[in-house]
Order: sequence, then C-alpha cells, then structure tokens
Amino acid sequence: MDEAGFMRRAIALSRQGVQEGGGPFGAVVARDGRILGEGRNAVVPGRDPTAHAEVVAIRAACGALGTHDLSGAVIYTSCEPCPMCLGAIWWARIGEVVYANDRADAAAIGFDDAAIYEEVCRPMAERALPLRRLLAAEAIEAFRLWAGKPDKVPY
Ligand SMILES: [Zn+2]
Repeated sequence: MDEAGFMRRAIALSRQGVQEGGGPFGAVVARDGRILGEGRNAVVPGRDPTAHAEVVAIRAACGALGTHDLSGAVIYTSCEPCPMCLGAIWWARIGEVVYANDRADAAAIGFDDAAIYEEVCRPMAERALPLRRLLAAEAIEAFRLWAGKPDKVPY
C-alpha cells in the first residue's frame, strides 16, 4: 500500500470513529508498505480520555509486534497529533508523522489541540494547570533502583 492508501485508511477510520460515537480521528502505523496497527478515536464510547486514534494505533502495532519500539515506522493520522499523541509517538520511536487536518481545523470544530499546544509552550508558572512537587526525596529511590538494575531494558 502507498502513503495515499495509508492516509485514506486513516480518514476512513476517522469517519468510523464518528459513527461509533467517538471523535473524528483515525490513524495507522505503517512500515515497509504494510499496516502494523490502526486506531480510531474512542474517548467517549471507551470512557477513556487517552483513547486518541494515534495512541490506539500505537498500542495495536506494539501488541501485534510484541514490542514497545516502533523504530522505522511512519504514522499516518487524519489530524495533526495533539501533544499527548506527539509524546506517545516520540516514546514509540516512530520516525515520521504524516497528517491531513491540522490543529486549526480541529480548533474550528471545538477540539482543544491548539489550546493545549499553547499551554505546553508557556512557562510552568504561567500555565492554567498547576504543577506542584511533593515527596521527591522518597520518589527518587525508584530511580536509584532503575539506575542500578543490570538487566533493565532501556527505552
Ligand atoms: Zn491525541
């Protein structure tokens, strides 16, 4: 399948998401000409605010391949990824993002993608969402355990 085919599949999934009561978003993760995993938005029907199409597609691809590492893959998404999905894409080591609708298109129909991008770019003290630090001296112990673990799997 070529990249127009991958994007058309993502767009078809976005329409399916709407029909199922989710948001209008679809995504496929592809590598070497084939789809590794696909997803459509299921936030409302799945009662899961993290069930964005890209996250669902990444979970599907990782489950199918039995790995947390999608190096060399490309994600085709019907809309520019929100900051959460962009983070998931980075963590999955996906190599490229191809999108159709953009954050302005999403904002025009009432989605917060653009607003969250603006929020993330503000200095921490100026953000609407408070972040406070607590019990760091106790939490650091898990970091020490990880750092000293000889058989850890870095990611
Ligand atoms: Zn997202």
